[in-house]
Amino acid sequence: MSPTPPPPTASATGSAAPTAAHVPLAVDYANTLSASRGRTSDHLDSWLSERGITPEPRFGPLRDAIRDLIAAAAEQAAYPTSALATVNAASAAAPQWLELSADGAVVARATAPEADRLLADVARSAIELLSEERPAALCACQAPGCVQFFVRTHHRQEFCSAACGNRARAARHYQRRKEQ
Ligand SMILES: [Zn+2]
Repeated sequence: MSPTPPPPTASATGSAAPTAAHVPLAVDYANTLSASRGRTSDHLDSWLSERGITPEPRFGPLRDAIRDLIAAAAEQAAYPTSALATVNAASAAAPQWLELSADGAVVARATAPEADRLLADVARSAIELLSEERPAALCACQAPGCVQFFVRTHHRQEFCSAACGNRARAARHYQRRKEQ
């Protein structure tokens, strides 16, 4: 008997977030950590497996670093230097260049192994996201217990998902009822 349940299929996890296509890679990566009913769950290994990458210990620290940076951006605080060093090192580990084909197509090339390229892609997405003009729209979900981040697409958006919004409204309603 196996003590671990089988990993979720790509379709099961891929359909979980309806807005996934618009989520920057770095936010998607940061959100591989989630929490529900006080329990934290880690989806990083299945996120990597969906992309054909074998999980390695170095993927975790990059996620922690990106989460620290997004949290800092959401609070308009200075970026922690250790997190910056982790992201910048991942970005530098897979130098990339563009090539033009005869048919006009642009192909991205890199000499690094696939795992390093993915780390670098995630790091560069974070760098684009966290550079000067962008962080204003980066938010931490305000629902109780939620640990997800999101890029605000409309003014006053407070929650990462409709489910979190409903949960938070229900909690506020319950709190008001208790206070009356
Ligand atoms: Zn949420």
